[in-house]
Amino acid sequence: MTTLIKGARVLGGEPADLLLQDGRIAAVGDRLSATGATVVDADGLVALPGLVDLHTHLREPGREDAETVETGSRAAALGGFTAVHAMANTDPVADTAGVVEQVWRLGQEAGLVDVVPVGAVTVGLRGERLAELGAMADSAARVRVFSDDGHCVADPALMRRALEYVKAFDGVVAQHAEEPRLTAGAQMNEGDRSARLGLTGWPAAAEEAVIARDVLLAQHVGARLHVCHVSTAGSVEILRWAKSRGVQVTAEVTPHHLLLTEACAESYDPVFKVNPPLRTDEDVHALRAGLADGTIDAVATDHAPHAVEDKESEWAQARPGMLGLEQALSVVLETLVEPGLLDWAGVADRTSVRPAAIGRLAGHGRPLAPGEPANLLLLDPAARVTVDPAALASRSRNSPYAGRELPGRVVATFLRGEATVLDGKAVK
Ligand SMILES: [Zn+2]
Repeated sequence: MTTLIKGARVLGGEPADLLLQDGRIAAVGDRLSATGATVVDADGLVALPGLVDLHTHLREPGREDAETVETGSRAAALGGFTAVHAMANTDPVADTAGVVEQVWRLGQEAGLVDVVPVGAVTVGLRGERLAELGAMADSAARVRVFSDDGHCVADPALMRRALEYVKAFDGVVAQHAEEPRLTAGAQMNEGDRSARLGLTGWPAAAEEAVIARDVLLAQHVGARLHVCHVSTAGSVEILRWAKSRGVQVTAEVTPHHLLLTEACAESYDPVFKVNPPLRTDEDVHALRAGLADGTIDAVATDHAPHAVEDKESEWAQARPGMLGLEQALSVVLETLVEPGLLDWAGVADRTSVRPAAIGRLAGHGRPLAPGEPANLLLLDPAARVTVDPAALASRSRNSPYAGRELPGRVVATFLRGEATVLDGKAVK
């Protein structure tokens, strides 16, 4: 199948045509033609490499009422993604070759994005003994990212062993940095506001202490460490220090931590309850600056669908987490592109190139050039869309952006040359 994209601005540059053939970009140039090709008019649209998410909760197996691999894949495609890493905290937990292969196969069947399973670091996410990391790496799912996300690998000896183990096959441990002894019962960011609202605080130090420990361990072992959902200014400082010393550490920030602050908790609306919690204005500023200067490598959604009964309750009882796949790129536009902190090449780097490199995904995060896999999206940067949770493709509705107008609209997404989204709608 052949597609001819007419007049797209590749990374925001001058308009050009792109010819997609046999899953690859066959040509990029002026006034291209191809007989029998499907023509896509991309006048005014920016072409970017397909987004890669390092942190998606697809909930299957176990909580198919909240999301499935298929519904989450569709939400991802609509957000411009061509690959997502599916987190391991499913039921059963993805801590064996069997479970990661099951998730991988479900992703292949849905065929909307490449679903890349993340393997658990410890059996059952219990933080007691290592899971079968090598068997998951050798499985059909070829797992390279390991995480107990939702839980911290709190035991330093176990974290060291995990780093030593994954080093053998160029894997990476993605840490949910949260010292559990400092966050018992925590409900929101710890500070004046949590005291006033009467909610137990989640101190920045609980995140920063684990990141500091882990970068030292990564340096000692000589292994790759990735830090999930960095949320504080202090964490950015520690990462900057570690990178300056040559530690093999990478980090991600979520769209919601780039846009929203702890002030959202004033409403007591549990849609804003998330782990790590929304922080202060100063933290948001530091996270944007850290992403802009490359201290933070990637935007990752932490897309966390929850069924209504788990989310629409009192704040203290509600599960933490929020949707993110369908609005991620719009939030990057709002918080980094429009304020002039990041250009289109920078957006491609932080949302596709670097996350693909961290996950060791050879077919993603590639330049939009002849011979490369045709994984890309077309974005209308001039559009403005008011977020309607009822219109989302996710099976859940817990979007923190409900009713908010955001810039940008993904018009089309192509996975290996095949459209998964056209005219802003899912193709299948
Ligand atoms: Zn987490």
